[in-house]
Amino acid sequence: MLIGLCGGICAGKSSIASYLIEDHQFKRVHLVRDVATPAVENSASNAHVPSGYSSSIDATHTFSDIDSLLDFVTLRWQERWVTTDIWDEKTVDALQRRPFFLLISVDAPVSVRWQRFQDRCASNKLMPPTLEEFVVRNDEHLYKPATGLSALIERAQLKLLNSTASISSLHRGLKALNLTNEARLRPSWDQYFMQLADLAAHRCNCMKRRVGCVIVREKRVISTGYNGTPRGMTNCNEGGCPRCNNASAAGVGHSTCLCLHAEENALLEAGRDRIGDKSTLYCNTCPCLTCSVKITQVGISEVVYNQGYIVDTQTAKIFAESGVRLRQFSPPREGLVDLSLGPSLGHSHDVDTDSTAQDGNVEVADIREVLDSDNFVRPI
Ligand SMILES: [Zn+2]
Ligand SMILES: [Zn+2]
Ligand SMILES: [Zn+2]
Repeated sequence: MLIGLCGGICAGKSSIASYLIEDHQFKRVHLVRDVATPAVENSASNAHVPSGYSSSIDATHTFSDIDSLLDFVTLRWQERWVTTDIWDEKTVDALQRRPFFLLISVDAPVSVRWQRFQDRCASNKLMPPTLEEFVVRNDEHLYKPATGLSALIERAQLKLLNSTASISSLHRGLKALNLTNEARLRPSWDQYFMQLADLAAHRCNCMKRRVGCVIVREKRVISTGYNGTPRGMTNCNEGGCPRCNNASAAGVGHSTCLCLHAEENALLEAGRDRIGDKSTLYCNTCPCLTCSVKITQVGISEVVYNQGYIVDTQTAKIFAESGVRLRQFSPPREGLVDLSLGPSLGHSHDVDTDSTAQDGNVEVADIREVLDSDNFVRPI
């Protein structure tokens, strides 16, 4: 794999690259800066301030353009490579075409980055810039038209907020995140189908909750569904279901609700014959009671869900009695992650280890135990 790190001055790119090199056998690849690229990244003051990490640049891993870097890594993609030399969108375009590339951005509050830069200046016996000078230089670095890095940061799959006060707490946060999880590059089947269920959920028109569902047989999608009013009727979000459009509490007044659930729509679409006895139902939310009995009746053999729902215990009981396997799967975390939150990062299922065979999976063998954890009960 190849990890590209981009971000603001003193956000922590080099520290993260060093962590990957020291703890996860990554090797660094360098891209030579050409005249068109902004030189401001080397220093936020007019004097050159060494980062402390660029000690020895290996000439054999230094490339004059992105194509030759990619040619090199493509032949060795199963090894681990990291670069902090990402200057522009053209470079990102070229890198993101390859299936082994992961773009990670790093950011930190400007006051924290200024403090780090002052420390770096002090250790090199250089006069640090004032906060105002640093802010102006940072604005140029991030937002200057055509060369600012903010557009690249926006494209990162994973965005790290690194306000950690020490290298050891940074390492703890990174360890918990498991950046080398291959599922970040190519989703596992569970992740793939759960993301399809999430996509289906975005088509929902029910005012109460976004739910999406995918039914899969032998790794092939046989139907999808989302919740909303039946065909031919006014959509729920246009007033079609009076119950969903008033402020009734979740789970109350179901008997007067006109909306079909995502699972019901997927089951109706697939039909019992196509479902057979080897189908898995993926749903972004744990099925409700009435869906559970229908899922059981049509012969679904396994249900995988991401988020809990208020009736998980009863649902688990129905599936346990009828022999339907139930498990929870949470994909690896993407988007903004605050590294200073420590090992749990506020989401226990992000904590995957290299040795875990089924990352993110929880077998719901004892639903009681599962429900005791805050992570599984979603407030309505
Ligand atoms: Zn509705
Ligand atoms: Zn309704
Ligand atoms: Zn339901």
